[in-house]
Amino acid sequence: MRSILELSPEDLKNWMQEHGFPAYRARQLTKWLFGGRVADFDLMTDLPESLRQQLKSTFSLWQTEVVRSHQDPDGTEKLVLQLVDGGRIECVMIREGSRRTICISTQVGCAMGCVFCASGLDGVDRNLTSGEIIEQVLRLQQLLPASERISNIVVMGMGEPLANLSQLLVALEAVTSQDGLGISTRRVTISTVGIPEAIRRLAQQERHYQLAVSLHAPDDELRNRLIPTNSKTGLEAILAASDYFFETTRRRVTYEYVLLADLNDQPEHAHALVSLLKSRAALLNVIPYNPVKGLPYETPSKRATSQFGSILQDGGLNVQFRLRKGDSINAACGQLRRGSTGADDTLVTLE
Ligand code: SAH
Repeated sequence: MRSILELSPEDLKNWMQEHGFPAYRARQLTKWLFGGRVADFDLMTDLPESLRQQLKSTFSLWQTEVVRSHQDPDGTEKLVLQLVDGGRIECVMIREGSRRTICISTQVGCAMGCVFCASGLDGVDRNLTSGEIIEQVLRLQQLLPASERISNIVVMGMGEPLANLSQLLVALEAVTSQDGLGISTRRVTISTVGIPEAIRRLAQQERHYQLAVSLHAPDDELRNRLIPTNSKTGLEAILAASDYFFETTRRRVTYEYVLLADLNDQPEHAHALVSLLKSRAALLNVIPYNPVKGLPYETPSKRATSQFGSILQDGGLNVQFRLRKGDSINAACGQLRRGSTGADDTLVTLE
């Protein structure tokens, strides 16, 4: 059965009309769906009985099943969701002060093959549908008491969001619309390995989301070693597309930089980053590596990390260090993986 969440507000309106119901029923239904706390069409009490019956016989409400949930003592919570075809994805709730940030996935696995990341170890199975992306948001919302709301969304879970852009855009439109959850587009960040055509397409959307680009190296030679897709794309094309994104949307681009001990954490790398980003209105988000079992990469020492940070700041860059959250449950950046365990980390400004 098709999930009702696969239908856009426009589709729902059309469906209502085709089945002899007034269009405003679509809005009522959307309100129930995004209220997220109703498990059954029968509980949607302001819809007529005949409509509820028809909905029930045509659509399913939930397509995923929560097969596991893990809670880190720091308040981070990870859900493992099983899809109808048996695939598994992960999504995370990160609690930080009054912020409730969720981290969601866009693919089962990942095809990018970044050498340090758990999500791509087994390659990619498939793209998620818009309904499966929305469902992660609703499942996570259900973890919150009625007095709390999701404040931020980071599309930083499993998968490469820009390799599944069409479905992601449908899902985000639903989530950010007033009839949906009404979350501001400014509080939605899409993180990408860097696919220039897709970055341009994202820039051309009516809705402007925040863009984060996984840089991880200041030059092609090193980046090719860490991110295999870079050999085809190259840094220059990614930076040009990101500049275009900023010029078109006026949204400042974030560059992410995972610090890997002895690989990309040397003073020369920090100096090269300063040259690369100094002239750009960018934010640099430095992420100390979260270890992944079976991979040989390590988190740099505190000393190396703070030296790296000082060079960036002395160079005049806008730097944030990401706090590690959820690593006791393998929910931190890069630890999300099919069949096992993902969260993003929260941001703090480097003092
Ligand atoms: N495919 C998207 C989203 C991936 S996850 C992208 O590449 O941006 C979000 C961020 O976590 C990316 O910057 C990714 O490179 C980083 N990451 C992956 N593995 C990590 C790890 N083990 N420790 C810290 N960050 C990691």
